[in-house]
Amino acid sequence: MGRVSTTLGTTGGCACARGVVSTFVLGQGSFRLFRFAGIDVYLHWTWFLAALWEFQRPIGTYRSAVWSALEYLALFGMVTLHEFGHALACRSTGGHADRIVLWPLGGLALVNPPQRPAATLWSIAAGPLVNVALLPTLAAVYYLTPLHLAPHGDTASFVRAIAYINGGLLIFNLLPSYPLDGGQILRSLLWFVLGRARSLLAASVVGFAGAAGLALLMLKTGSFWFGLLAAFMAFSCWRAFQNGRAMLRLERLPRRTGVACPSCGVAPPLGALWKCGRCGTSFDTFETGATCPSCGARFAATRCADCGALSPFEQWTAPSPVVPGSVSV
Ligand SMILES: [Zn+2]
Ligand SMILES: [Zn+2]
Ligand SMILES: [Zn+2]
Repeated sequence: MGRVSTTLGTTGGCACARGVVSTFVLGQGSFRLFRFAGIDVYLHWTWFLAALWEFQRPIGTYRSAVWSALEYLALFGMVTLHEFGHALACRSTGGHADRIVLWPLGGLALVNPPQRPAATLWSIAAGPLVNVALLPTLAAVYYLTPLHLAPHGDTASFVRAIAYINGGLLIFNLLPSYPLDGGQILRSLLWFVLGRARSLLAASVVGFAGAAGLALLMLKTGSFWFGLLAAFMAFSCWRAFQNGRAMLRLERLPRRTGVACPSCGVAPPLGALWKCGRCGTSFDTFETGATCPSCGARFAATRCADCGALSPFEQWTAPSPVVPGSVSV
C-alpha cells in the first residue's frame, strides 16, 4: 500500500472557502461535470495535470495500473461526497451553496452560510462527517463481502486503500489549521466566545503556524505538494486575517437605529459605505433612501455590510416591535 500515504499527502485538502483562492480556481478553466440537487460540480483543468503525474507513478501493490487510476478517481469521488456534505448542510441552514470545484489540492465547496456561528459550524462540520460515515461503510464493504477472504486480490487491495485514504482525509481535514475544515471548525467555536471578527483573526494566526509547519515538512521531505499546500494555506490565512481586521473596523462603527438587515438582523453602520454602481460615488444609502446623491440612481436592493446578503431596501425595517400603523422606510 505504498501509494496510499503519498496520495494523502498530495491531495484531499478541503478549504471550503470563498475569497480570492476560490475566485482564482473558478475564474478560468473549470468545466461542469454534472449537477446534483441543484449543485454544479466543476473540474479545474489543472486536475488533469496532477492526474497525469499521479498515473505515471509506480502502481504499488496492484497487478494492473487500472486499479491505481481507479484509486485516484475514488479519492476525488470521496472528496466530492465530502463537499456535498458542506453544500447540503449549508443549504439546510438557509445559506447559499450551488457550486463545488475539484482541483489538484482537493475540493472547494462555495458555501455561504448565514453569518451565525452555529450555521457556520454545521456547514463546515458536515464535510468531515461524511468521511466519518464512510468509515463503517467501507469496513462493511470489506468484511461483509467475500473480499476479506482474498486479501491479496486487486479488488480487496483497492477497498482497503480507499478506506485508508478516507481515514487520512478525515484526519488531515480536521487539522485545526485555517482554511482546512478543522481550522474553520475552530473558528466557528471561537466565534461563540470571541465574536465574528476576533475568531477569524485568531484562527488565521493559528493557520499561519500550520502553514509554517507544512513548509518545514516540505523542506524535510522535498514534497512539492506540501509546498503548494503550505503556500495555499498561508495565502488563505493572510486573506482571512485581512478580512478579520476589516470586520473588526466595521464592528466598531456606530450603528443606525430603527433599521436592521432582514437577513442577519444587525443594524447597518453609519457612514458612506455603499457605492453607486453607476457613477462610483460613496454614500450612506439609509441617509438618502437608497438613492445616489450624485447621479440620482435608485437601488432596489441593499447589501448588508455585515453579512453580505442582498435584500430589497423596503425589507430593512425596525428590529424592535413595529408600531401598528407606522410606515417602515
Ligand atoms: Zn471540507
Ligand atoms: Zn446582514
Ligand atoms: Zn451615482
